[in-house]
Amino acid sequence: MKEWNSVKITTLVDNDIWKRGLASSWGLSLYVKIYTEEERHTILMDTSGSFDPLFKNASKLEVNLSDVEAVFISHWHGDHCGSLSHVLPLLRHFTPVYVPSENSSGIRKIREAGGTPRVCSGPVEFMEGVMSTGEIGGWTSEHSLVVNVKNKGLVILTGCAHPGIVSTIKRAQQVSGISKVYAVIGGFHISSLHEGINVAKFLDEIGVKLVSPCHCTGVNAKIAIANVMEEKYIENGSGQVFSIDYKL
Ligand SMILES: [Zn+2]
Ligand SMILES: [Zn+2]
Repeated sequence: MKEWNSVKITTLVDNDIWKRGLASSWGLSLYVKIYTEEERHTILMDTSGSFDPLFKNASKLEVNLSDVEAVFISHWHGDHCGSLSHVLPLLRHFTPVYVPSENSSGIRKIREAGGTPRVCSGPVEFMEGVMSTGEIGGWTSEHSLVVNVKNKGLVILTGCAHPGIVSTIKRAQQVSGISKVYAVIGGFHISSLHEGINVAKFLDEIGVKLVSPCHCTGVNAKIAIANVMEEKYIENGSGQVFSIDYKL
């Protein structure tokens, strides 16, 4: 798998606000830029549920949505794909939209808005060094975005992690063939202290260096993860920026 020199993730929309002056909204949207010396690409992971906060936050953060070359939709819940029909018209015609599973109305909406739906039923490296875990089944099927960063390892971005955050991470390791996980950012879909401790123990065991649960992660679970992971835990919210670079 190709290694990227750096990845910069900007939280455009989350349930919480990290940077004053920005909007929050129940949902998630992450703006992902990946770099080598010669190359750069931009991916939008989830669009949140309402376009208004997404658009306002993007302009306040001076994030250019029209740079987005590919959209990655973690799962078909409205708080992750609800703004697609507003976002796609801002992008190049036929922009690929990676989705976890077939969904006739969702796929029709993507086509109508000018995008090209691509169903990731299995794992796929859709850009060099950037993978979808492929659909992970269960009550709600979902896939996660995986970027391979030089000297660091995998950066795993989750929407809600409905199939379970631990199984999502294990799947990312398995499909990439890379066991080193540097960062896990996104919704963890757990709420209790007990669940938080169990997840944090796993993250600690596999040597994760940066964890930032947000969106559907409950407060008690966050506290538990922060207690175990200490300085490796980073608070998230609209406006937070993570810069992961191979030299730092
Ligand atoms: Zn959600
Ligand atoms: Zn969900």
